[in-house]
Amino acid sequence: MKKSVKISIVLIMLVGFIFSISSYKSNREVGKIITKEKVLMLTFDDGPSATDDWEIMNILDQYDVKATFFMTGVNLEKYDTDPGIKKVVDRMIKDGHSLGNHSYYHNKYINNQTQLVKELNDVNDLIKYVYEQNGQTIESKDIPIRMPYLQYYRGLGYVQRKVKNPYWVRGYLGTDYLEEETGKDKILNQYYSHLSNGKILVAHTRGYAKVWLPEFLETLQSQGYKFANFTQNSNSFYKNYGRLGS
Ligand SMILES: [Zn+2]
Repeated sequence: MKKSVKISIVLIMLVGFIFSISSYKSNREVGKIITKEKVLMLTFDDGPSATDDWEIMNILDQYDVKATFFMTGVNLEKYDTDPGIKKVVDRMIKDGHSLGNHSYYHNKYINNQTQLVKELNDVNDLIKYVYEQNGQTIESKDIPIRMPYLQYYRGLGYVQRKVKNPYWVRGYLGTDYLEEETGKDKILNQYYSHLSNGKILVAHTRGYAKVWLPEFLETLQSQGYKFANFTQNSNSFYKNYGRLGS
């Protein structure tokens, strides 16, 4: 191998290394509200679902709790064609829940950042559209993102610079999505053993939520916990409690 080729390879590796460090520094992932108050954030991934999210909201209503729903483009794109989806999403907005971006196709993106940027922008556009249909406006910079499978890898720094969403929301994930296989008691204990002030909790848009969610909310409210979300100009807005951090 020619010396000049070797030097070029070393230079390319060096540039790559510096780039990965700078990408890492631009990481905007958050997992909690930094606060001294007893507040949690409850989030549901993978909707919208006309049936499951409707039931989840019925339960949230009983306890006057506002949550965040991280949704995929493939589900949200049915807004104009599926009346059940329109109804459930309109209710989320009217009730003061927050909508989040959970990618379009819910894939693994480690080898395709260009695709991920496109998907996140497309879902931002869908979310902006459904707010407009409800007479409200939201900007991309106010829409939280949650990566499918809570993926995290260094190349995400590049994606984070390419899209306008400032917050990439992680949080505590148990195994609520396995439903009966985990069971109510274990799901509750998973959450109870990971509580701290400001903690963000990951749950899923699943029918099984109606089995554990009422007791969950009952117990935590009796312990004095409140619930925050990303809905601006509302009592539940997280900024009423603190700022987001990791
Ligand atoms: Zn998901």
